[in-house]
Amino acid sequence: MKKGEQFIFFDNINTTFPDPEVVDIINKTLTARLGNPSSHVHSAGIAAAAVIDTAREKVSSLIGAGNGTITFTSGATESNNLAISGFLRANSRFQFAFPPVEHFSVINQAFELRKSGVKVRNIEIDSTGIVDLNCLERTISEQRTLVSIAFANPEIGTTQDMPAISEICRQHGAVLHCDCTAAAGLMEINASEMGIGLLTLSGHNLYGPAGVGALFIADDVKIAPLFFGGNQEGGLRPGMENVPGIAGMGEACRIAKDGIESYRDYLRKLGRKLWDGLADSVRFLHFTGHEEKRLPGHVSFWVEHVEGESLLLLLNMNGIMASSGSACSSNLKGKDESELVASHVLTAVGVPTYICAGSITFSMGKNNTEEEVDRVLETMPRIVERLLEMSPSYEDYKKGKETHHG
Ligand code: PMP
Repeated sequence: MKKGEQFIFFDNINTTFPDPEVVDIINKTLTARLGNPSSHVHSAGIAAAAVIDTAREKVSSLIGAGNGTITFTSGATESNNLAISGFLRANSRFQFAFPPVEHFSVINQAFELRKSGVKVRNIEIDSTGIVDLNCLERTISEQRTLVSIAFANPEIGTTQDMPAISEICRQHGAVLHCDCTAAAGLMEINASEMGIGLLTLSGHNLYGPAGVGALFIADDVKIAPLFFGGNQEGGLRPGMENVPGIAGMGEACRIAKDGIESYRDYLRKLGRKLWDGLADSVRFLHFTGHEEKRLPGHVSFWVEHVEGESLLLLLNMNGIMASSGSACSSNLKGKDESELVASHVLTAVGVPTYICAGSITFSMGKNNTEEEVDRVLETMPRIVERLLEMSPSYEDYKKGKETHHG
């Protein structure tokens, strides 16, 4: 990294920096001497409840929540748990189905649900991560089903055709939960028009604060609480509300709604430039996910003969922060393969784990610039060539040896 150069943050899929307006409203709420929103008997309590009401309207407006309500939670993990386990508690005859690329807050719940007797079904995907609509239809036509599908996959960037998925679910009386954590603010979402039953949002993925999220629940969908206590959030999420966090999340949703088109176009342009530049300049690079149906500003790939983790470290040394799908089993010599766990997402889309040693995700946000893309494009070929020089696998490849383990 050259002297005076700024770090480049290309890891917006894992978190975003709160917008100044968001920080401002959080500060104001924290210092406003507000009461407990449940204290309806005095003005400090009523003022706190009003802050939550305003934020609820802003969240509703971002996702078109006309036919339902917003429940505030501690984040997407909790929203996913409340949506899925809360629904299945209230609707015990339903089975549960999801594709294998979902977030661990869905996958690990499914393990527990299966133990408690819920029938759990897999929805197949293709090699780009797109849901197989025929498989979806077959699965949900057998029994009433709660379907959970993320709008966008954070690791490989692929986005789903939610209107088509939702229509199939409607025809078969399935209830659709859509995890919009990665998609919100970038993809057009209208929960009511799309017929979505349950919808997850997270504050910190939207230039809002961490530790706050939301769950949309359509009026005709019944769920049971997972925690027991007071009557906050309609009894679905008891405990005093995180009022400053909720205010921040509401403001983040307002900004996202106002700017969605310009952010999307801008990020699409940056993403295209990065994708094409990498394709032209980096040897042995394989993109992951769908080339068109993907999150704007999201570019993910793996490089044959090069470990993802090593690439991330060298990127970081060059002032570039990105993220990685956890390393697949490595064919680099000197590694204990038993310790390497393949990313469930890469495995599910059929990335060959015997040659892929970890993927990279560059996820740009609205504050990134074209100059930063240029710097990444200038850096990547250089560091990939350096890692290739050190790669025993590449050495073998050059000698024409058979290097596959599998
Ligand atoms: N769902 C998806 C699609 C995610 O990418 C994440 C991680 N940001 C989560 C759920 C969980 O989010 P959180 O850690 O904010 O609870």
